[in-house]
Amino acid sequence: MTSSGSLKSAIFEREERKQQYQAHIRGLNAYDRHKKFVKDYVGFYGKTRTTHDVLVVKTDQDTLREGYRFIRSEEDDMDPSWEQRLVKRYYNKLFKEYCIADMSQYKSGKIGLRWRTENEVMSGKGQFICGNKQCNEKDDLASYEVNFSYFEAGENKQALVKLVACRRCAEKLVYKRQKEKEQLEKREKEKHKRKRERKRSDGSTDDESERSNGRRKKGQKASTSTKDDVKIDADENFEEFLEGMFP
Ligand SMILES: [Zn+2]
Repeated sequence: MTSSGSLKSAIFEREERKQQYQAHIRGLNAYDRHKKFVKDYVGFYGKTRTTHDVLVVKTDQDTLREGYRFIRSEEDDMDPSWEQRLVKRYYNKLFKEYCIADMSQYKSGKIGLRWRTENEVMSGKGQFICGNKQCNEKDDLASYEVNFSYFEAGENKQALVKLVACRRCAEKLVYKRQKEKEQLEKREKEKHKRKRERKRSDGSTDDESERSNGRRKKGQKASTSTKDDVKIDADENFEEFLEGMFP
């Protein structure tokens, strides 16, 4: 066999393997896909940590340090396969896709946000488990886009990230705003009531148009915005392939 022939068959095999991998990945649900990617990541990149480590509380500083270490290790790649690079892209993206919330002061409207630790990324905390630090709910989750301000590499940065929350915790997210709205509505109603009573005692007729003023629809939970996560990556359309994999 000539060398160009064997090169061709190597390319063919590689392409075939890639397509099989893609088909397999597409057939999985989000959680199984996550487990597969994480398992492959550990297989390819030799993480010794297990994916089911007990979640430990870490400071934001620890989280940042882990993030930096991760980014640096990416530069060490020699000649990774398509699968390897895809898995790494997925894993890398996860760090800045979802966040963890401290909701202990939700009544005063303070929700603290931080990036996820490596263990949290791998176990799916904040993605398949409620993103409230104190909550381990796995059912009835929804993802909300939140504006996250953070400090990194000497700079203040802002990002639109996802916070996954169960129904109970989602209520905490909007608790203060909701309360304020209710209070405002209550005050408005009382104002109109007093006005009407005053008019009545003055002998004038009830004014219908004023009565309908106080009612308002309940507010929406989170604002939506366009994603700007398209990174320059001309080589293999990873972004396209990963599109929709981060619900
Ligand atoms: Zn929760």
